Amino acid sequence: MTAMLESYAAGRWFRSEAEGEPLLDAATGEEVARISAAGLDLAGMVDHARDVGGPAIRDLTFHERAQLLKELAAHLSADKDEIYALSARTGATRRDSLVDVDGGFGTLFSYASKGRRELPADTVVLDGPTEPLGRAGTFVGQHLYVSRPGVAVQINAFNFPVWGMLEKLAPAFLAGMPSIVKPASQTAYLTELVVRRIVESGILPEGSLQLLCGSATTLLDHLGPMDSVAFTGSAHTAGILRDHPNVLHAGVRLGVEADSLNCSILGPDVTPDDPELELFVKALVAEMTVKAGQKCTAIRRAIVPESLVDTVVGLTAERLARVVVGDPRNPDVRMGALASLAQRDEVRKAVEALRASADLVVGDPDHVELVDADAERGAFLAPLLLRAHAGAVEPHEVEPFGPVSTVLTYATLEEAVALAARGSGSLVGSVVTHDPEVARRVVLGLAPWHGRILVLDRDDAGESTGHGSPLPVLVHGGPGRAGGGEELGGIRGVLRHMQRTAIQASPDLMTAITGRWTTGARRRVEAVHPFRKSLAELRIGDSIESPSRTVTLEDIAHFADFTGDTFYAHTDEEAARANPLFGGIVAHGYLVVSLAAGLFVEPNPGPVLANFGVDSLRFLTPVKAGDAISVRLTVKQITPRTNADYGEVRWDAVVSNAAGDPVATYDVLTLVAKRWPPVEG
Ligand code: NDP
Repeated sequence: MTAMLESYAAGRWFRSEAEGEPLLDAATGEEVARISAAGLDLAGMVDHARDVGGPAIRDLTFHERAQLLKELAAHLSADKDEIYALSARTGATRRDSLVDVDGGFGTLFSYASKGRRELPADTVVLDGPTEPLGRAGTFVGQHLYVSRPGVAVQINAFNFPVWGMLEKLAPAFLAGMPSIVKPASQTAYLTELVVRRIVESGILPEGSLQLLCGSATTLLDHLGPMDSVAFTGSAHTAGILRDHPNVLHAGVRLGVEADSLNCSILGPDVTPDDPELELFVKALVAEMTVKAGQKCTAIRRAIVPESLVDTVVGLTAERLARVVVGDPRNPDVRMGALASLAQRDEVRKAVEALRASADLVVGDPDHVELVDADAERGAFLAPLLLRAHAGAVEPHEVEPFGPVSTVLTYATLEEAVALAARGSGSLVGSVVTHDPEVARRVVLGLAPWHGRILVLDRDDAGESTGHGSPLPVLVHGGPGRAGGGEELGGIRGVLRHMQRTAIQASPDLMTAITGRWTTGARRRVEAVHPFRKSLAELRIGDSIESPSRTVTLEDIAHFADFTGDTFYAHTDEEAARANPLFGGIVAHGYLVVSLAAGLFVEPNPGPVLANFGVDSLRFLTPVKAGDAISVRLTVKQITPRTNADYGEVRWDAVVSNAAGDPVATYDVLTLVAKRWPPVEG
């Protein structure tokens, strides 16, 4: 008997004493391991996540969490051979493992980088600007996201044992939530190996990741209002989870990614001579064969113009005939096995159901030519292409979770969009067209029904990541039948784990709460110019009140000559007078901003290293010759950069005229040394 898979629970590896269920190699039928969660203390795992993991993660800033994800990704990437070797036992070819394993590591890297660049060096995220709530400016509102003191339970499908875990773990971890990962039993041995390497590395704080190998049917009993469940799998199990009392009545957040009958539409503009035809067929064959079609994003419905259906079927058949099926370890093999014999039975049943309204035009469900493999012991299946009859129903209802796709035809573009919508909501759709009008009509028609849409043509094909690849920076999930959930999407995926709360307070207390200076809050004007202060010395609210300077007609004329910006409002009195907004010559906005810099700058070498931009620049009141302007600059936000001896300082800048009206408002962004003078060596 092979070894029992272990769960990682409450800081130690747990092995069930039960006999367990055997897990078989998808290609050879040999037993790989056994699985059982009998005896595992699920309540203890939930407590451990909440009491140990959560507080440890939330002690870290977003940047520190991102740094750990980066270290983890680098650590796991360093030695992939054993992961690839075990991945082959799930039926995956090397190309399939690339999607699962490297795709998972890539997602970690992507979140690490987004977290450092797009989240603050803090534990809260501000959402949108401050809202003034009173006339006197003493009462303001601000939305902010905070971490929830709960646990993120992740229930994954069998098809992506590595990516499925990491794509859920990364955003949850950044959001400050500990994870309990529950892989699908069939391929849990691969997830277990990766979790083992993660735990051994000691990179993540204890309690931030636990692993449940075996049944999770009672896990939700222990969850409450601060907890969430992210589920990927069948619509049937999703239904069971949706009906759980703690989801219905106790506020457990449930995200579902379930069945999806994704489509790809070939545009009516495409002729047999266009490169888009080959792109369409190539994508279809790739989606049918990568992971042996066991991808939630695979193309199940190929929707093509009536006039091209024979051509599409012919070209697809030619390409499918070249797909070598067999032992996934053999480098010549293009398509490996399904995850299990049971899964193959399911797909055969689904194909039988599809045949009620479609003809099988390529492949035989009961026979496949194999290389280095045994058709009885391994879960192999030939790629199968069907062609739907007019008015077919089943292709819009039955998800064959294997190397199977159905070709449907349309007469008009409206019909193509209507057919796509009959999938009742999908993860991804694609349209292959080079016609801008077709692209817009199809995308706008498909968008309400899809989480992601790929528009493929000759121009983007070279760089396209393909129909079926979810990307960490783009939303993954879909409406309706696809489950209604959303994962990934860059920082959106992080914020989804957090609680957005509207805070109402005075500007001073809002500044204290958010860590960002709020308009109206106290400012500190001291003898030392803030440009003389290092990052360590600067405080939120440190401020400069500049002297004023009168803008002259000569200044404006000089700026116009010097820069070449001789726009009439700055140079032609008569024309400027006719301008309804100005009524006469006005200073260039950029002149105002440049003069303001001259007013606030401290010119000597010091801790301010560079100005790297401005944000939210607005010119509010025109400046005319003779107007005196002055500027107030206030430290708004301080963000130390990890692994650098400087950080970012965001300054709130307000340029005003003599009447006190704001002329320009913006944020100045500078890089400031952490210490000054710099420490030698
Ligand atoms: P399941 O829904 O059976 O399993 C998905 C996950 O849920 C597994 O981890 C499973 O664990 C777990 N699970 C099952 N029952 C419960 C429960 N009562 N409470 C908590 N967790 C539970 O899907 P499969 O992975 O077996 O795939 C079945 C079908 O689902 C496929 O053939 C395909 O049609 C569809 N599918 C769709 C996907 C998509 O995103 N579109 C992705 C994967 C599958 P365990 O394995 O231990 O039972």
